[in-house]
Amino acid sequence: MNWFDTHQRKLPWREEYSPYSVWISEIMLQQTQVDRVIPYYLRWMQRFPTLESVSIASYEELLRLWEGMGYYSRVKFIHKTSKIILNQLGGQFPENLDELLKLPGIGPYTAGAIMSIAFNQNYPLVDGNVIRILARIFNIENSVERRETKNYIWKKAEELILPGKARWLNQALMELGALICTPKSPTCYECPVQKPCLSFHLGCTEQRPVVQPSKKAIPIKVVVGVLQKDGLFFIQQRPANGLMADLWEFPGGKINQGEKPEDALVREFQEELQFSIQVEKKITTLKHGYTNFSVTLHAYLCKLVPENQSPILHFASDYRWIKSEDFRAYAFPAANRRLINLLIKL
Ligand code: SF4
Repeated sequence: MNWFDTHQRKLPWREEYSPYSVWISEIMLQQTQVDRVIPYYLRWMQRFPTLESVSIASYEELLRLWEGMGYYSRVKFIHKTSKIILNQLGGQFPENLDELLKLPGIGPYTAGAIMSIAFNQNYPLVDGNVIRILARIFNIENSVERRETKNYIWKKAEELILPGKARWLNQALMELGALICTPKSPTCYECPVQKPCLSFHLGCTEQRPVVQPSKKAIPIKVVVGVLQKDGLFFIQQRPANGLMADLWEFPGGKINQGEKPEDALVREFQEELQFSIQVEKKITTLKHGYTNFSVTLHAYLCKLVPENQSPILHFASDYRWIKSEDFRAYAFPAANRRLINLLIKL
């Protein structure tokens, strides 16, 4: 904690420890790096400084502000939870772990974060950084992906809590993991807990924590069509469940083995929308990495043939014909947004 006091990074969510700011920052930090979260957090807090402002905002607007951070179900849960707290709990976050866990999108980690960081209650908090540090300090030889090992680490974290100090200890552990006890080449010579660290003394810090080798991203080839008519662009909204739920996109889909991208595009427009199209010309090929996939996206300009057709939606939940200046009002997946930025420049 002394180390944290002098070495902690100045982060916007460390200025005040309100339950609302802790909640938003912790949800954003799930699956997303700190540097990437900072601008999103600042923009969010400027637009939605209070829980009430989130609850009365449109879901579309929240989604648009979140665009690019991925894991979009988090937005839906934030919206739902803000309404529940405002309308059913008198606008106050419950200061009780079990009550927090009843709220949509709040699991043990987020509940623990609110209890310890916002309310400074004696609860442990174990994220990837804390798992790494404790696996090294206690030289845990079992895979940290196993449930029993996870439970053991939570128990160890709980034992470390000093009454009335959880806010500082939990953050200190996470910060130490982010800055000193890093996944590769930890800076042990500067570490404030070097003395009790078993794996340091045994010379096996690089082998801890024990994890399965990460899977390689699966390569996927997709094609999308930028359909234009009378200066308007056709976009469709993804279904409310599943990958990238509710985001808007250009129609298209996976290219089958041995299929030409242009043929795949004609097929996808027919299958998804019952649109007959003519592929006009190639716009670009983009490569984009997601957590489990590496996507090669081929994009084409196309037009309706014949011109007067109405879509029949077999996949999307909604569609629009929009002007190019309206692209910014809708939330798109990252690769689609890169394509839009290119289209606007053309
Ligand atoms: Fe991590 Fe090294 Fe510190 Fe041990 S001594 S906790 S391995 S940085």
